[in-house]
Order: sequence, then C-alpha cells, then structure tokens
Amino acid sequence: MAAFVPVTVGAVVAAGIAGAAWRAGSLSRSGAAAAALLGTLAAAAGPAWAAVLIAYFVSSSALSRLGAARKASRTAGTVAKGGARDAAQVLANGAAFGVAAGAWLLTRDAVWAAVGAGALAASAADTWATEVGTWVGGTPRHVLTWRPLDAGMSGGVTVAGSLAMIAGAVVIGACAEGLGLPARVEPVAAGGLAGALADSVLGATLQERRRCEACGALTEQVRHACGGDTRAVGGAGGVGNDVVNALATAVGAVTAGWVAARAG
Ligand SMILES: [Zn+2]
Repeated sequence: MAAFVPVTVGAVVAAGIAGAAWRAGSLSRSGAAAAALLGTLAAAAGPAWAAVLIAYFVSSSALSRLGAARKASRTAGTVAKGGARDAAQVLANGAAFGVAAGAWLLTRDAVWAAVGAGALAASAADTWATEVGTWVGGTPRHVLTWRPLDAGMSGGVTVAGSLAMIAGAVVIGACAEGLGLPARVEPVAAGGLAGALADSVLGATLQERRRCEACGALTEQVRHACGGDTRAVGGAGGVGNDVVNALATAVGAVTAGWVAARAG
C-alpha cells in the first residue's frame, strides 16, 4: 500500500500532462489516453522514470511544434499522418519503455533502466532528426542508395537531421543519468543512435512505398494530396510508420540493455 499514494499522484499528473497535450493538439484523444497510461506506469516505476519520460515528451513535442506550418507545407504530399499523435503512434514509440518500466517494477534489475531509456532515446533521436531536418530543409537522401528523396519520405537523411539525431540520443542519455535512473549516458545514447539508424534503414526498405496514379509522385499516402489514388510500389504491404517506429525503438531498447549489461 506504500506505493498507492505516489502511483495515484503519478496518475493524476500523467492525466494532467496528457490532457494539456491533447488541448494543445499534440495528441489525439486516444493518444492522450495511451500517454496517460504510460505516464502512470512510469510514476509507479519511480520519480526518475517519470522525469525522463517527461523530458522526452516535452522536448519532442516542442521540436514537433517548431516551424510546424513550414514543415507541414514541405511534407504535405508525402507523409501519411500529421498533427496530433494517436494511440498507435504513442504506443509505437512508448510500448518498449512501458515494458521496461514493468520489468523494473518486478525485478529491480538496473539493466531495465537502460532498456527503457534506450527506447526513449531511439524515439527522441528519430523525432529530433525528422523535425529539425524538415525544418532546416536541404535535400534528403536515401540512407542506403544516397539518391535524393522528397521531404517527408521515410528513409531519407539530411546533414541537419543527422546532427539532431545525435543530439537527441545524447540528451536523453544525459537526462537518464542526470535525473537518477540507474543507467549511464553511453549505453542509452548508443541505443538511441542504433534505434534511429534502424528507423531510417527500415523506413527505406521494409516500409510500404506508394506512387500516385494521377501525378506519379512517390508518397506514403493512400490517397495523394493531389486527389489521385495511389498504389503500392515497394516495401512490405501494410507496413507503415507505426510498425517501423515500434521495431526501431525495440532495436534501441535492446542495444542499450546489451551495452549496459556488457559494461556491468
Ligand atoms: Zn498525386
């Protein structure tokens, strides 16, 4: 029963933050419910877990809002989902962290702190890369073939986005260590970089690519912004951003846990 009060307070704070993000348009209604659940789980795991989750959430939401109109105009013809994040998007980015928090509650093994923070670092690195890269501009290039891509297409990388990716991984690693999780910055940042790289590679290969039948543009939209229908021309059918994000955060989580366990 000793844990009942902090968990209740945590649930109220998590609901408050998720509600504010819903009113601000960062989360949809289902996204806010999923975020409140993750926040409550983090609060149950301990104040350091909650603090790192809040640091991740606030920094990523702030970067998403940075120059939102300019970014939306640049990716209007490519990205499938914009605006408020729904529950699938929240869980694609947060489920691995939630699993790690639950495992930490059961085992108190420090490796789960690295796993959880590594998942957030991977998600942050990818989000920072996408948001800063789209905002700054420059021609994205395919992560494997180096051919130019339209802004917003998965698997594209830019110089500014790559620098932001490194910053996002290191900042979440520093938050994990500085805010009191039993995890060091190095394994968490390593997980973040591995996860973000996996996101780009899977986005360029596994993720479904579509072509507009009317104007011929490559896009991730089922109905193109121009009004034309699109058909699948590559990748695995039905594999969208959420699946790729879930796999990439899992890569980040496992990498961080592996590096932390090896470092002892
Ligand atoms: Zn079109």
